[in-house]
Amino acid sequence: MRLSQMLFVTLREDPAEAEIPSHKLLLRAGYMRRISSGLYAYLPLLLRVLDKISAIVREEMNATGAQECLLPQLQPASLWQESGRWDTYTKAEGIMFTLGDRRKQELALGPTHEEVITTVARDTIRSYKQLPLHLYQIQTKFRDEIRPRFGLMRGREFIMKDGYSFHADSDSLKQTYDDMYQAYSNILRRTGLAFRAVDADSGAIGGSGSTEFMVLAEAGEDEVLYTEDGKYAANVEKAISLPADAVPSPFDTYEKRETPDTATIAKVVNFLDCSPTQIVKDVLYQVTYDNGHRVLVIVSIRADQDVNETKLQNILTNLAGDYGASTVIALTVPDEVVQGVWATKPLPLGYIAPDLSDDYIGEVENLEPKFLRMVDETAVPLKNFATGSNEKGFHVVGANWGKEFELPKLQVDVRTAMMGDRAVHDPSQIIQTARGIEIGHIFQLGNKYSAALGATYTSENGKEVPMEMGCYGVGVSRLAQAAVEQSYDKNGIIWPVAIAPYHAIVVVPNIGDADQMAAAEKLYSELNAAGVETLLDDRKERAGVKFKDAELVGIPFRIVTGRSLKDGKVEVVKRADGAAEDMAIEEVVSTVKGWVSAALDD
Ligand code: ATP
Ligand code: MG
Repeated sequence: MRLSQMLFVTLREDPAEAEIPSHKLLLRAGYMRRISSGLYAYLPLLLRVLDKISAIVREEMNATGAQECLLPQLQPASLWQESGRWDTYTKAEGIMFTLGDRRKQELALGPTHEEVITTVARDTIRSYKQLPLHLYQIQTKFRDEIRPRFGLMRGREFIMKDGYSFHADSDSLKQTYDDMYQAYSNILRRTGLAFRAVDADSGAIGGSGSTEFMVLAEAGEDEVLYTEDGKYAANVEKAISLPADAVPSPFDTYEKRETPDTATIAKVVNFLDCSPTQIVKDVLYQVTYDNGHRVLVIVSIRADQDVNETKLQNILTNLAGDYGASTVIALTVPDEVVQGVWATKPLPLGYIAPDLSDDYIGEVENLEPKFLRMVDETAVPLKNFATGSNEKGFHVVGANWGKEFELPKLQVDVRTAMMGDRAVHDPSQIIQTARGIEIGHIFQLGNKYSAALGATYTSENGKEVPMEMGCYGVGVSRLAQAAVEQSYDKNGIIWPVAIAPYHAIVVVPNIGDADQMAAAEKLYSELNAAGVETLLDDRKERAGVKFKDAELVGIPFRIVTGRSLKDGKVEVVKRADGAAEDMAIEEVVSTVKGWVSAALDD
């Protein structure tokens, strides 16, 4: 392609709307334009990148025996009502765009396709002989994200590869899951990204686990905890670890102490001159279930620890049945406004004890009249601990479970694992932390959707049973930007060869010079003929502008028909390390072709 004929518009300045390097660079280098919040026009250069990523994804998926299909993006509400997810996706998370048609039927723009694919499986799979089956698609997804940001990282419209597998038993599911683990590792390796596979939260869906594929980068929205020995890596939402040991308590008798102005743990620790490991803090939450029922929750946890809200939400989802509900719609820390609705008197915030009286909860419709109390495993073994007294300005010290406070029946792991903790698999390993961009997520779903939507098959012994399912997603557009986030310098993008929009660019410093033009034209057509995807910068621009643009756009190899032409040579520059050499013209095509193939074979 000739730049003179392309839509090729680069910006010298960083666009104000962009916060992270990859977002700035993709806008500056003319890969995309913002149309509205979370909505981007993918321009021709970006489309080539996306197509290359998709091609790698296809190859790796097809190699496992998965088959490509294409499902409707418009989905009827009825399917989501059948699976029980309509309310969660429209009300709770509110992440699904919905609309109506001329017959007043409700529809949604697909944020994901479990419902649709399960319907297809229900209608087409009858017998165990048709299993296992794995279908995938590469398609635009729609999600009304709360905070669309960072360009392609979190869009409201983005490209995803989503695959769904169906099985007769969990062994078969596990086999496909393992194949996907390998396929995803291959995809990320081939696209040139440094990544880590991490244990991930499977939500309350259960199943026997899920793995996220994280590209490590400062701009990542996820936190990954890992150990140096490479044996443990998990999303912080899911991570487990051994907490620091508690220091023995300095308090030997139970008493109430005046502790003025100590509503934060730091202040109590300071005032009582003790370790936070000797304090039990009591944290208040409010959970709203899908049937509208609300429950106030008190979590007692060692004060040096933090509540992990993902773990808490999973615990509360598992308890939904106790309240006649099936899932959690919202989990919040009740603020003053919310407290105003139910609290019969002002709460002793900052001084709450594990036994805060149920009398604080007024009679309100749909509100559970009793606190749901739970204790984290870190707080259970504590002796002679300090905690709130349910009275502002006072704490108690020297308290014990079974004496002053009843130990909640619900003893749970609800703590956030953190950097510096010891690892469970080997306590000599210390937990480290890194930021990650989630590129892919593979999931053993079990039979949640097949059971809800009646996707059953006849088993070998003639029984009608719901199929086991797995699902597997890769953010294709997010991957494109993550590649930039991992690979750029002060001059611009440095694309990995495998997903660069073009492999090479031939730059003509002065198009008025007939020799330069002739040499460039010849190289341009020979390189393309040899399979090296090559651009020709034949614009009427200054040489300096052309060099800057080539660097900004990040094409791996640059060939300049400049001064050394009189010696039968051109300058060849590698974008990655800036290495430049004068090369005899007749060697250029085979050399660059060799570099490209070597990079693609890696
Ligand atoms: P996240 O936690 O980042 O919101 P998710 O758990 O919602 O991701 P999945 O539903 O598993 O993501 O989707 C599969 C993949 O699609 C993700 O791993 C990610 O790469 C990509 N993805 C998800 N949401 C977006 C988005 N808003 N913009 C771009 N890519 C996305
Ligand atoms: Mg999401």
